[in-house]
Amino acid sequence: MIVALFADIHANLDAFEACLRHARQRRLDRMAILGDLVGYGADPGPVTDMVRELLATGAVVLKGNHDAAIGSTRESMNAAARAAIDWTRLQLSDEQKRWLDRLPFTTEEDDRLYVHASPRTPAHWIYIRGPEDAADGLKATDARIVFCGHVHVPQVFGLSATGKITSFKPVTGTPVPLLPHRRWLTVLGAVGQPRDGDPRACYATFDTDLSELTLHRVPYDIDAAARKILRAGLPEFLAQRLFIGH
Ligand code: ZN
Repeated sequence: MIVALFADIHANLDAFEACLRHARQRRLDRMAILGDLVGYGADPGPVTDMVRELLATGAVVLKGNHDAAIGSTRESMNAAARAAIDWTRLQLSDEQKRWLDRLPFTTEEDDRLYVHASPRTPAHWIYIRGPEDAADGLKATDARIVFCGHVHVPQVFGLSATGKITSFKPVTGTPVPLLPHRRWLTVLGAVGQPRDGDPRACYATFDTDLSELTLHRVPYDIDAAARKILRAGLPEFLAQRLFIGH
């Protein structure tokens, strides 16, 4: 089975549609959408509706911190993120907001755990920024493989039976074998707001038979996404950063 993994869409419809097209042109049996559907971008309503349809056809859909912030003022955020959340709240219907609020924090499937941030207290949105965070996250679950997002920078961490942890950045288009004698925590790049210096939209596929992960980068119409952000009156920085992927 091929699972397509999408994290941090962030209301960037142009980026998400490009990734879906790319995934559908290849083999695709299942989808997992790992939270932060909204926030930052200018198309929260259309993205929410599109993901709702995917959920109805069997996709895994999880809640991210920006989705949680729509229904709560408790989430701590920087000024640009906060401004985008306040604007997003006005764009969504009560029904869309209720739907976002009901999304789960985690889903387990066979030996895999899907979560937005660290598996260590998922509702606290802990960033996996290095090997220590990854090891701590793996300690909090029995799953052999964890897929998460939240950081917007792709990274793979492998934990050996002796507790040694290694990490590397996957090369786009090159399958990474997640070997069975290790446990793995994979941070996916962002669909809608990459921060690793590559502005192309990012998603990944996982082949459950071969236990292989492949990262994909997809060009999309950044101009269109940025123009919509400016037209909406959102902070200019949120449009500019799409061009540099940072
Ligand atoms: Zn995010």
